[in-house]
Amino acid sequence: MTSAVSLQNVSRHFGAVKALDEVTLDVGEGEFFAMLGPSGSGKTTCLRLIAGFEQPTTGKIRIFGDAVEGVPPYRRNVNTVFQDYALFPHMNVRENVEFSLMLRKVDPATRAREAEAALELVKLGGYGDRRPGQLSGGQRLRVALARAIVNKPKVLLLDEPLGALDLKLREQMQDELKALQKTLGITFVFVTHDQGEALSMADRLAVFNFGRLIQVGTPEQIYRNPSSRFVADFVGSSNVLGPDFVHNIVGERRWASLRPEAIHVTRAGRGLSTLSGTVMSRSYLGAMTRLGIDLHGTLLHAVVPSADDLPVEGETVTLGFAKESLHLMEDEG
Ligand code: ATP
Repeated sequence: MTSAVSLQNVSRHFGAVKALDEVTLDVGEGEFFAMLGPSGSGKTTCLRLIAGFEQPTTGKIRIFGDAVEGVPPYRRNVNTVFQDYALFPHMNVRENVEFSLMLRKVDPATRAREAEAALELVKLGGYGDRRPGQLSGGQRLRVALARAIVNKPKVLLLDEPLGALDLKLREQMQDELKALQKTLGITFVFVTHDQGEALSMADRLAVFNFGRLIQVGTPEQIYRNPSSRFVADFVGSSNVLGPDFVHNIVGERRWASLRPEAIHVTRAGRGLSTLSGTVMSRSYLGAMTRLGIDLHGTLLHAVVPSADDLPVEGETVTLGFAKESLHLMEDEG
């Protein structure tokens, strides 16, 4: 795999704060790569280091093999779509998209042609005369995308671009961003704190916490085989089971994760399993229902298909799951 972006032991400290701590990471050419983590985990700092808006305290960053130490953002062959889109409000859409070409002294006819082509790509053909204030949130994002791709970067960096959009539009733009990346065939590095977004969009993702890189893998690897309690809990609200509980089931004193959808719930007495518990909560999620079940002091969540006759709060139920669903974790942290 050719590396589009490579970080080697990269740290960025702000005084005593280790915003990024010894991160080593490779993003492959043409990948849709997500950086996922809670607020303050260092993902934006990581993106800004790749973009060139920050310099690492220690460590080395390469873009397509070239060390970029001291190289300013506009010479890096990367472009950034910022969280707030940072459009110029006093310029119309066309002027916004043409702006960087103008700085590079591209002639007016070529500028106009390339800006219109970029706007067509993001389905905003014909919107050139509008001002940002006359556009919806989704359209503003499209302008920000057009403004970035008009420079034909090899890597597009996106900082929580869907954060300001409502749910329906966010889902639609997720599909469109994936499609755009396929059409352009370039590398996308995408920052988000939304695990659903990262899992559904990314070819691979990196999970951050407290400035450290915790795990890198495909969505399926991360979801099925979280390396730690933090990842299990953060990516997909897994049940994290303590060593005593796990010992009773598999005979090993280890931490383990168990996905809510891997648990079968039956009415007491009807299942084969001997694990019984009491339903403490029931939340309707649409197609699925989440049950909170107390198992002698351990609270487990199960997500089951919604049905008319699901057990109610206070009812005793029997729980079952395949032993393979219990994923033993390497560490305790
Ligand atoms: P969010 O999702 O909230 O944007 P994040 O994961 O992107 O969070 P960063 O913005 O990278 O996190 O911040 C990581 C840590 O570094 C935080 O504790 C933050 O307060 C600190 N930090 C970031 N930039 C600076 C700065 N310029 N000066 C001082 N501290 C900073």
